[in-house]
Amino acid sequence: MGLPDIRIPAELLPADGRFNCGPSKIRPEQVAALSAVAGDYLGTSHRQRTVRDQVARLRRGIAALFGAPDGYEVVLGNGGTTAFWEVATFGLVRERAQLASFGEFGQKLVDAMTAAPFLADPSVRTAPPGEAVALTGEDGVDVYGTPQNETSTGAAVPVRRVDGGLMLHDATSGAGGLPVDLAETDCYYFAPQKCLGSEAGLWLAILSPAALERAAEIHASGRYVPAFLDLTVAIDNSRKDQTYNTPSLSTILLAAEQVDWILANGGLDWSVRRCAESAAILYDWAERTDYTTPFVTDPGLRSTVVGTVDLADGIDATTVSAVLRANGVRDTEPYRKLGRNQLRVALFPSIEPADVAALTRCVDHVVGQLA
Ligand SMILES: *Cc1c(COP(=O)(O)O)cnc(C)c1O
Repeated sequence: MGLPDIRIPAELLPADGRFNCGPSKIRPEQVAALSAVAGDYLGTSHRQRTVRDQVARLRRGIAALFGAPDGYEVVLGNGGTTAFWEVATFGLVRERAQLASFGEFGQKLVDAMTAAPFLADPSVRTAPPGEAVALTGEDGVDVYGTPQNETSTGAAVPVRRVDGGLMLHDATSGAGGLPVDLAETDCYYFAPQKCLGSEAGLWLAILSPAALERAAEIHASGRYVPAFLDLTVAIDNSRKDQTYNTPSLSTILLAAEQVDWILANGGLDWSVRRCAESAAILYDWAERTDYTTPFVTDPGLRSTVVGTVDLADGIDATTVSAVLRANGVRDTEPYRKLGRNQLRVALFPSIEPADVAALTRCVDHVVGQLA
């Protein structure tokens, strides 16, 4: 069956049709800033001042954006969040972690730590997709880990400390769009292709003094750690505003531009409010429209950075997303493995709330035409 030939009227279309949850929309101003310095920056040594100044700018900006308490350090390395899962497995867990798994990304950290032959299997707290589960104090556990925002389902949880272990928060899709008090965590880690509207391939982690100490302790214990995944190597390089191996220079500059843009607009409070405004537009529409339902039933768990909306039986979300795509409105498909009749929409700071409103009108139009 071919795709129905539905033209969405131009006046309904968003100004920017990018709604992917990562890689996500990069603002034209970021691209212009990169372009403006390109000749002196791209293709130059990452050991020289020009690039290290941008790494320093990014590290400084992130510490300011998240209000890093005294002694916390911004550390970075290559390989994105997926590499950081291995870094944390090798470098932050002494023996055993307790992990929350309520979607694909939380489960991937469970898989990484389960596979590590030098660790006991993690204690895993699970909830079905669309719900969430809290961590809780447990004997014999020295690390607690949870996603802040489960990008595969659109469920988000508050960042809250459990006493008796290091706290790790996967903030890959939350950092820069969700509130956080860093005193409640020891390791707030993320990648810049989501709320920071940059390219992928980098991981960033804000580490508390306790996490820095744990990394040093495990390093000193003699555990075999590949240099590429050695957190102490990343810490040493980050202190010199470098990465262990060659980073993507565009990723760093685009991320630094985004952090400074958020700071110039009022900081994290501003971006959190902006995402919440987009989320209210999406969920209000999903609640009042007869063929849509927010997938996350508990309003308190509904993410304000990644929105998921189920469509009624009889309206094929795959067709709706494909028609939207044919009209330049991209990447509203659900997380592939979730397998639901659903639209998933990024609500990151770069995305204009007005464009989320426009998207809802486009969906209404397409569904009306399909009927
Ligand atoms: C996107 C995402 C990841 C994976 O990030 P990569 O940089 O592609 O490895 C991990 N966790 C969460 C919560 C994500 O949203």
